[in-house]
Amino acid sequence: MPAPPSSILIIGSGVFGLSTAYSLSQNPLYANTTLTLVDRSPFPASDSSSIDSSRIIRADYSDPAYAALGASAQRVWRDTSPGALGEGRYSESGLVLVADPGRDGYVRDSLENVRGLLEGGAVRELKTRREIDAVVGTGGGSGQWGYVNWRSGWADAEAGMRWLRARVEKTGRVQFICAEVVSLVREGKRVVGARQRDGIIRRAGLVILAAGAWTGRLVDLRGRATATGQVLTYLDLTADEQGKLGKMPVLLNMSTGLFIIPPRDRVLKVARHAYGYSNPTKIQHPDGSGNVIEVSLPRTSIDDPSQWVPREGEEDCRAALREMIPSLGDRPFTKSRICWYSDTPRGDFLITYHPELDGLFLATGGSGHGYKFLPVIGDQIMNCIGGECPAEFKQKWAWPMETMENVVTEDGSRGGRPGLVLQEEARKGSRL
Ligand SMILES: Cc1cc2nc3c(=O)[nH]c(=O)nc-3n(C[C@H](O)[C@H](O)[C@H](O)COP(=O)(O)OP(=O)(O)OC[C@H]3O[C@@H](n4cnc5c(N)ncnc54)[C@H](O)[C@@H]3O)c2cc1C
Repeated sequence: MPAPPSSILIIGSGVFGLSTAYSLSQNPLYANTTLTLVDRSPFPASDSSSIDSSRIIRADYSDPAYAALGASAQRVWRDTSPGALGEGRYSESGLVLVADPGRDGYVRDSLENVRGLLEGGAVRELKTRREIDAVVGTGGGSGQWGYVNWRSGWADAEAGMRWLRARVEKTGRVQFICAEVVSLVREGKRVVGARQRDGIIRRAGLVILAAGAWTGRLVDLRGRATATGQVLTYLDLTADEQGKLGKMPVLLNMSTGLFIIPPRDRVLKVARHAYGYSNPTKIQHPDGSGNVIEVSLPRTSIDDPSQWVPREGEEDCRAALREMIPSLGDRPFTKSRICWYSDTPRGDFLITYHPELDGLFLATGGSGHGYKFLPVIGDQIMNCIGGECPAEFKQKWAWPMETMENVVTEDGSRGGRPGLVLQEEARKGSRL
């Protein structure tokens, strides 16, 4: 295990960065290490992927390692005692995971995994569309086959992050800085800190880069991870509708990627877990050579306050709403958002030292499924920093030696079409 550095700078205060700060603050090994967390936005960063009305909390994975890690996170989410994470922030509504014929591999593997993890009774196969609709209880449904897992649910994502932030603040160990990092500072092959837009340089013995979908601006991730924009739409409900739909399970079609999470505060979210949009952007190579490279980077409501999802995405969400909750089929969307994944080829996280730059550790690659791990991922990241990555994730989270021409996530869970470019789709118009 490498000796603990005297200072650690974490870039990015999402689930990955903030949970790492907490874990480090709790570990006596790092008792003499100065911890600094820098984020470009004041907390909570409204355009980060960890901040939203809701996120699905599930152990329902086709991969047994993530299923087991999801189950360990769920044990923490389920604690609803005063002051615990789950108190008022987690709802075990059940999850109906469905698929269309010929595209059901992910759901079949997931069913097998959760059956192995859970006591009988919590999980029930749904063999027909009729059975799916009956369990969903909204007058609609989706898919032709699937299952319900009554031991999965959803969390108020922003509230979970606020809880975590308060815990970190309480330790008194972490200095919070609001500033945009424009580049890493290198001395030869060593990263020794980060330069902020205001010119301030923050030096540290170890830099942890956890900037989510923005990470590719600060280090070359081409062929290994990329930013993809995902479509979210929201609509308002009456109090009566909230009362009724508040009891529905999460409904996720793994063939189309379309899903609905039960409403909160009279707002319902319809979204798509898809290949997503790329946003090709020309930047100076992060190595400081002056070369210009093209990478996909987030374009959010902070860059463009009037941003609305492209027509193609809204149409998909509209179709999902009509199918899943027909009574609301024509209700206008009042808000939309493009939320950015840090996507890797197989949907694996990237939690590893950089192979060539000493003093740099990466904690990113959330690939659209990292939120649920809020209570456990910090310890995992800290263990990897200490050279003790769990055996089942050693390969998955390592720096990939092979690169892909264009990163497309093929973990079996994505809907939509690969290859969509945000600007091209935006040009076709938005707002139906
Ligand atoms: C639409 C959507 C739906 C999702 N649904 C689910 C779900 O249902 N269940 C689930 O488990 N997961 C889900 N996820 C995935 C999950 O939200 C992410 O995997 C997780 O939040 C990633 O956290 P992060 O810390 O890597 O990134 P982020 O939360 O994006 O944090 C990165 C931070 O870095 C900061 N930053 C960026 N650049 C700089 C810079 N140059 N200088 C300083 N700071 C910088 C940003 O401001 C931001 O706060 C979803 C994601 C999206 C987008």
